[in-house]
Amino acid sequence: MSVLVYIEHAEGKVKKTSLEAVSFAHALAQKTGEGEVVAVALGSIDSAELVKVGSAGATKVLHAGDDRLTAGVIQAHASAVAQAFEKVGGKTLILAKSSLGDAVAARLAIKLEAGLVSNVVELPDTSSGYTVKRSIYTGKAFAFTALTTEKKILAIKKNAVDLKTDGGDASVEPLEVTISDADFASKITNTERATGDVLLPEADIVVSGGRGMKGPENWGMIEDLAKTLGAATGCSKPVSDIGWRPHHEHVGQTGIKVAPSLYIAIGISGAIQHLAGVNSSKCIVVINKDPEAPFFKAADYGIVGDAFEVVPKLNEALKAE
Ligand code: FAD
Repeated sequence: MSVLVYIEHAEGKVKKTSLEAVSFAHALAQKTGEGEVVAVALGSIDSAELVKVGSAGATKVLHAGDDRLTAGVIQAHASAVAQAFEKVGGKTLILAKSSLGDAVAARLAIKLEAGLVSNVVELPDTSSGYTVKRSIYTGKAFAFTALTTEKKILAIKKNAVDLKTDGGDASVEPLEVTISDADFASKITNTERATGDVLLPEADIVVSGGRGMKGPENWGMIEDLAKTLGAATGCSKPVSDIGWRPHHEHVGQTGIKVAPSLYIAIGISGAIQHLAGVNSSKCIVVINKDPEAPFFKAADYGIVGDAFEVVPKLNEALKAE
């Protein structure tokens, strides 16, 4: 018996959120005695990259390398993962909470007749039954869900678990799967990319600008700072509504919800709808010229000052590091 982890990858790399899911599975297997952790990866990716999944605690990676298994064919992914689940004969499937993870998990829950909990933040309490803690209301509260099904699916919230890095190499084993044409009937063919090098929902650091930046012509300093930090760029809703920045950078209740290790908010007031998208960040730094700006109440560090003076100086200081 094994715990199975569904691995997501993009541009030849396993996503950090999936490595977190493997770390979670490893800790879970140790706690419940569910045996080894096996990962399943679909589509085109190098075996050398999959071997590294071992560092997070997986002993084996099952790889169905069919090129048609791109991230856009969700139904086909669900079918392939269900077959991997049958093969390992486990009762728990772990994956990262993401738009793909949620879509695959929902289909798997039906296929496997499994209970599903998404946004999980801690190992389940198995002292009496099986109770899972999950984050709700965009990180403002927690709910405890009792799972009573034999098979269980847990989707792990980004940044909620410590990443294990001291495991050995995983072995990579080809996985034969049978997928019907119907599984390829619907397909996501168009996905939006973040501007810059780092995808916003995946980013470990986000540099975000608001209306205080005065206009799109001033975004160079946000991009420069993001580049120095290896960060993704984000913005407040009015900024994307006016067209200063693309809509896929809009962070908040009605936009992307981020959970980076560091969120830097520049010239953003901190309205509740914006905070709803960032309050799972581990550390928030606010730069605003108004000391009464509401964002300061949510900040770990605040700089009261003019962004046009502070940001270039901050960037220079970081570059000199
Ligand atoms: P402003 O409120 O105009 O704030 C600009 C800030 O910049 C001010 O605090 C000011 O002090 C500061 N500033 C000005 N000049 C400088 C300078 N030179 N240096 C430093 N600081 C400076 N908003 C979102 O962001 N995301 C959402 O998902 C979202 N969803 C919404 C959903 C609904 C239903 C509604 C009603 C609203 C939503 N909003 C959302 C809008 C939200 O209420 C705010 O209006 C918005 O977040 C404000 O954007 P802002 O902070 O960029 O602009």
